[in-house]
Amino acid sequence: MRDTFLPFCRPDISEAEIAAVAEVLRSGWITTGPRAAELERAFRDRLGVPEAVAVSSATAGMHVLIEALGLGPGDEVITPAMTWVSTVNLIVLAGATPVFVDVDRDHLMTSAELVAERITDRTRLIVPVHFAGAALDLDPLYRLAAERGIAMVEDAAHAVATRYRGELVGRRGTCVFSFHAIKNLTTAEGGLVTTGDPELAERVRRLKFHGLGVDAFDRETQGRSAQAEVLEPGYKYNLPDLAAAIGLGQLARIDEIQRRRRELAERYLERLAEVPEVVPLSVPPWVTEHGWHLLVIRVDDRRTAVTRDELMAGLKARNVGTGVHFRAVHLQKYYRERFGFRPGLLPETEWSSERMCSLPLFPAMTPEDVDSVVEALKEVLAS
Ligand SMILES: *Cc1c(COP(=O)(O)O)cnc(C)c1O
Repeated sequence: MRDTFLPFCRPDISEAEIAAVAEVLRSGWITTGPRAAELERAFRDRLGVPEAVAVSSATAGMHVLIEALGLGPGDEVITPAMTWVSTVNLIVLAGATPVFVDVDRDHLMTSAELVAERITDRTRLIVPVHFAGAALDLDPLYRLAAERGIAMVEDAAHAVATRYRGELVGRRGTCVFSFHAIKNLTTAEGGLVTTGDPELAERVRRLKFHGLGVDAFDRETQGRSAQAEVLEPGYKYNLPDLAAAIGLGQLARIDEIQRRRRELAERYLERLAEVPEVVPLSVPPWVTEHGWHLLVIRVDDRRTAVTRDELMAGLKARNVGTGVHFRAVHLQKYYRERFGFRPGLLPETEWSSERMCSLPLFPAMTPEDVDSVVEALKEVLAS
């Protein structure tokens, strides 16, 4: 058994990133400024997209997009319940109605076919979720959205280094990335909206900073003080330079970060073949580069009497941390009580929600760490 605790995730921060943060602290400009602008430029260049707006979290980015799209009472938004709660909370806070769509058991992502069944004449937005580092099958989803004239925002919180049919996620449409502490590229807290629509980007830029036409850095550097008045009421969702400096360092070595994640994931998949009681996610054929954000397994109750919760407790007792990504949103207290959602609505989502957990996966892990997790898994399942 391991003699030290292996957490499910630990951020990978380099000495260069620590130095970059210290430099920002000494510079006299610590909030949104040159580093945030540089991070936006770096994402525009990397993805080849016209617009990238840094924000304080993916949740903040999704909030301003929902506001920019004008969603409100009577409007329906289609999204999976196999997601982080933030998107669904925002839909409800806007007064709109969440309409949940199921996912594929093999990879936990939804599809154009499943989404199409949920479209009504009130559907205003589709928010599909790239899951665990794999990519959604985007071509049919974009075709469906275009045919039906419905807006789409990709939840790309897990997909900063993911490729769909050879192309990085974020190159088309409108995407929201997360730089939360556990994500592949982190700024502690942070996010980024990318879009090909300059008008939408302008709204996002305005809404993320008080509804002003410009932010403080723009005023300082562009002399645009005349425009610094409220054009519409907005929020306070800007990304400070302190955080952006970390993100720039992470982006500069993202290929190395991904190489390490990929090697660990490959080792896991190889070793997990020895544990028939658990079912990892499969990689769909359209994923040409997996981001390996999470290593998700499901406990197969046809092969073991050990439950997911028992498995997590047993692993913890053996110094292995785990997480659940995610507990189905529609069966959480507020959503059950407010909308009357009951088990049976989303069979595939519920099947995984009850059986899934995420194993430790972060760049500083060693292959021996992976082996120790698999050994611990075998022990718990044998007990
Ligand atoms: C992390 C996450 C979010 C929210 O990101 P924040 O930056 O924490 O707001 C949204 N969706 C998914 C699928 C996530 O995993």
